[in-house]
Amino acid sequence: MIRRMKGTYDITDDIGYYKAIEKQIERVSKLFNFKEIRTPHFEARELFHRSVGEDTDIVSKETYDFEDRGGRINTLRPEGTAGIVRAFNENKLYASNISPQKYYYYGSMFRYERPQKGRFREFRQFGAESFGSNHPSMDAEIIAYAATLLKALKIKDITVHLNSLGDKTSKANFEKALKAHFQPHLDSLCKDCKNRYEENPLRILDCKVDKNHESMQSAPKTVDYLTDADKAHFESVQAYLKSANIDVVVDHNLVRGLDYYTHTVFEIKVSEDLLGSQNAICGGGRYNNLVETLDGPPTPAVGFAFGVERLVVALKENDYPLSEDYLHVYVLVMGEQARLNAAWLIQRMRMGGLMVDTDYTERSMKAQFKQSANHNARFVAIIGDKEVEEGALNLKDQQLNTEERVSFNDLYVTIVDKLTQKRSDCQDCDYKGESQ
Ligand code: AMP
Repeated sequence: MIRRMKGTYDITDDIGYYKAIEKQIERVSKLFNFKEIRTPHFEARELFHRSVGEDTDIVSKETYDFEDRGGRINTLRPEGTAGIVRAFNENKLYASNISPQKYYYYGSMFRYERPQKGRFREFRQFGAESFGSNHPSMDAEIIAYAATLLKALKIKDITVHLNSLGDKTSKANFEKALKAHFQPHLDSLCKDCKNRYEENPLRILDCKVDKNHESMQSAPKTVDYLTDADKAHFESVQAYLKSANIDVVVDHNLVRGLDYYTHTVFEIKVSEDLLGSQNAICGGGRYNNLVETLDGPPTPAVGFAFGVERLVVALKENDYPLSEDYLHVYVLVMGEQARLNAAWLIQRMRMGGLMVDTDYTERSMKAQFKQSANHNARFVAIIGDKEVEEGALNLKDQQLNTEERVSFNDLYVTIVDKLTQKRSDCQDCDYKGESQ
């Protein structure tokens, strides 16, 4: 048997959790006026090298690269922002008469990581990007958007960790201080950190190997190297978050792994009881130079990305209530003529907005009744030879435990009528289909 590839998984029984998350993403995104954008799953390899950064783990060690038959080097996207910025520039979305332009995305990302609990090689992210505003209120809105999604999904005990890297000058000053700090410790740091020291010292703080090294605790803090303007921006973000009633923890050790961040960076963690050590459920920040780096006009931007699998685990741990699957009607058929007649009745009901299913394997009556119950059908319509002759059938209401004879012509309206009757004992009065 051919098995799934390492680090991938099939979504079968858990599909309800994904659907619930997708539904809330759509709802909350509407509340915040973010529009959906969909970009390709693969891009030119160069895109990620130029944006995420050559020496970040996800680019240097974790990408799925492949050469296509035309000799082009493609990369399966390891994250969403680079592709969206590419699309923003290529489609000249910056020329829109709406500003800031607010987009959200949902889809698979691919990283060649060591699979473990909460870490996969194909995983899904929900993310958002806002282009065109450098205002601290926009940083706060992005964080409020992420926190609101968690609230909508009934995930409690979240902590928003917040820090600021500042813009170019602040970052350069900080990097200088980091180099001076780590220089005497270089020999005892890992090989990657030695490279990072030369290429991008900030990344040393994000190292998984050296995270408990003595030099980490005493390392300089970003806030001490922020310019006055960058410090004011950071303070203002906090004031806006306070005004929106979003609690945050200022975490000076938070730097985030990707190169493109400037100013605000944040991570949302849920309690370890819920997700263990992989409890970072969302990460994001400002990236004011990326649009320009990828040949677009200077455009400030800020965004986040959620790990959907971790949201699913959190929902399952919390027994998130899923809506039950059900059918409006299950049509029981006995005999070939009945089946032919059922075909047009079923099609007519479906066209009218009813959820209908039937038997396709010539089961016995008893087995078909069992199926109707397995499908959680409100009504069962029974058609045999006699019914075809009479042009009428028995309609059983499984919820009210009633049965009546209904002509084929009246079947659809009878069911719709019953579904839309508001009565205290009717829990299934949610029919929203259109009549023919
Ligand atoms: P990042 O793009 O690395 O900032 O990750 C954003 C979020 O995506 C993280 O907080 C995780 O929830 C999730 N994530 C990142 N990598 C993986 C992975 N390999 N498997 C599952 N989720 C992931």
